[in-house]
Amino acid sequence: MNKCPYCDTTYNEVLQTGFVGCARCYQEIEPLKEAIKKMYPNKKHKGKVVKVDSGNL
Ligand SMILES: [Zn+2]
Repeated sequence: MNKCPYCDTTYNEVLQTGFVGCARCYQEIEPLKEAIKKMYPNKKHKGKVVKVDSGNL
């Protein structure tokens, strides 16, 4: 979808203001997600997801 259901920010608004409404926007707004993916091709740009590697438990 082109709109974040959490804060009602649309992709066009992000383009116009340069700001997202909330952290969820990156996951909910499809074109934004694609843009982020192109900006960070080798790295996932997520702050909340914690990846647990074996050996560090
Ligand atoms: Zn949002």
